Amino acid sequence: MSRLLFSIALVIATLSAQKVDPFGGYGDVYWGYGNAAVSALAKYVKPNLNFVWSTGSHTAQPVIISSIGPDKYTSQLQGMKKNSDMAAVIRQAIDDGVDVIMVIGDGMGFSHLSLPIYYAKATGQKDATAVEEWLSTGKMALSYTNPVDELVTCSAASGTAIANGVKTRNTMLGVDSNGFELESVLEYAQKRGLATGLVTDKHVTDATPAAYYAAAASRSEESDIASQLVKNGAIDVILGGGALMFVPESTKVSAHKAFASLKTGKDKKSKRSDKRDLILEMKQKGYEFVCNDSMLSHVKGGKVFGLFSGGNISAAIDRDDEATGEPTLEAMAKKSLSVLKAKGKGFFVMLESGRIDAEAHKNDAGALLKAMLETDRMLKACLEFRKGREKKTLMIMTADHETGGFGISYSYDSQPDSLNLPSGQTWKSPGNGVPYKNLIIVDKQTRSFEAIVNTSKTAEELIVNLGKYTPFSITQEEAVSIMDYKESEKK
Ligand SMILES: [Zn+2]
Repeated sequence: MSRLLFSIALVIATLSAQKVDPFGGYGDVYWGYGNAAVSALAKYVKPNLNFVWSTGSHTAQPVIISSIGPDKYTSQLQGMKKNSDMAAVIRQAIDDGVDVIMVIGDGMGFSHLSLPIYYAKATGQKDATAVEEWLSTGKMALSYTNPVDELVTCSAASGTAIANGVKTRNTMLGVDSNGFELESVLEYAQKRGLATGLVTDKHVTDATPAAYYAAAASRSEESDIASQLVKNGAIDVILGGGALMFVPESTKVSAHKAFASLKTGKDKKSKRSDKRDLILEMKQKGYEFVCNDSMLSHVKGGKVFGLFSGGNISAAIDRDDEATGEPTLEAMAKKSLSVLKAKGKGFFVMLESGRIDAEAHKNDAGALLKAMLETDRMLKACLEFRKGREKKTLMIMTADHETGGFGISYSYDSQPDSLNLPSGQTWKSPGNGVPYKNLIIVDKQTRSFEAIVNTSKTAEELIVNLGKYTPFSITQEEAVSIMDYKESEKK
């Protein structure tokens, strides 16, 4: 047995020996992906709130396509569709001089989308959430996300299908299933003289944005993908994370003077495989370079390249905007839309909420809630932008796949008041419907499970931190087992 398989088997064996109620309505967690220590913490605390995960990885669940705009385009995005069906519609809009805003929630399934809606109900919010407004204003379709010859997609294969209109194999980027290079809708827009933009809270070289400008047999060739972004050199707005892909090999991000006022991930070491200084090369191609939220707010126009973290932009739940200097998705969306609009030649932009996938991989419902609330604010910014430009704007929201098999399931620990009926009978809840207050409880979590596990050095410290940043508690025995997972992952 390989070491990896052995450690997975060990984790499963150890976990089944823990005090988790096997009949608590909590599905099987697939431990092959993500962080076992973080997933174990999720497993110990979440069954009480009835947030359930069937896996820690991607699923084959179809996802939603919601489109708002002229009927000519949106009428083609109804019923049962494939993720590769959107690109042709986008090309038509580009031909017609209609601006296109593509929103991709990475890993955003139905249940993830329902979180802001339920949260608004739980907190008595009067206005409709942006998610509701999108879904009720636009046309809707379901999208099959599967790659070629398989059922479950990665972000590269689905991103390629969404961006280029052709399904491909897992890990492949911007090429068809035989490896031939494709032309993305962004490149199509560039050829026709339109302005273009890519915005993400992950690396700008990560699969979803890269599907629009790169061609690679594997998404893991990220160093080369960064070089391809520079080679394109004409995407007007590029905002996100991943500075470590742009500084010369074996240097730290902080060693580059362009990152003097970067606040997050400065210590990350270059992941490049050559000595090229891609920040300098981008400047030579006419880009204004920015690396924190205040610099971004001062951008007036031109070509903008923003990297706001050494790695991925921090989780919404862990981000203190003052301290981390990272812009919100909403701020990046607003800035990109205003810069692209001002160019006055029509535009295509892709806005990715990539942290949804990251939080769902870790089975962290509290972090996922915050990621979805942030996504809702970005969706609201798009709705506001569209006002007065209804005939000239096509907006599409979709996901590349679902992550986590996330849901909210029957509960048996809380009951609403009973009710006397006109018939004289009494209605009493069986107590399984899950109270709204559970969303308020999970909202009290202010740090991701990953941040809590990473910053806790001992089981005792983990219990203290959990009490400090969450409304949850775990037993000493559970804390010890989480620290064991953490230790075993270091090996
Ligand atoms: Zn993923």
